[in-house]
Amino acid sequence: MILYQLACTNAHQFEAWFRNIATYDAQSAAGDIMCPFCGSTGVTKAPMAPNVATGVYKGVTTETRAREVAEQIMRAVRRLHRHVEENCEYVGDRFAEEARSIHFGETEERDIYGEATDQEATELDEEGIEFHRIPWTPRRDS
Ligand SMILES: [Zn+2]
Repeated sequence: MILYQLACTNAHQFEAWFRNIATYDAQSAAGDIMCPFCGSTGVTKAPMAPNVATGVYKGVTTETRAREVAEQIMRAVRRLHRHVEENCEYVGDRFAEEARSIHFGETEERDIYGEATDQEATELDEEGIEFHRIPWTPRRDS
């Protein structure tokens, strides 16, 4: 048996026993490990903090780390947004309609971006129309 210190994406820490490393890897890959606090399956081994003695401090480092990771993701997302805004034509909520027209050659081929409902996205997907969903959050700065 092996005891792992685990952390979820919401920075909850907990310990779990596994038969061996392979069991952990398999369960982790299958998303079978769930945070007992929030039910998140985004669980990873908590980073080792060998020279940190107290549990409180360990929690702080994990939270800081989680915040850093979140910041990195936000920066990447903002870069992606800029790229899209500079290179694609904004079509607003007519995205599904335009994507379909381009796909069927009814209108000039170009890169577009805009909003689509879940329903529209599902339909485009079923029709084999290529598009990507990116997280789009309101900008706080700039
Ligand atoms: Zn959690």
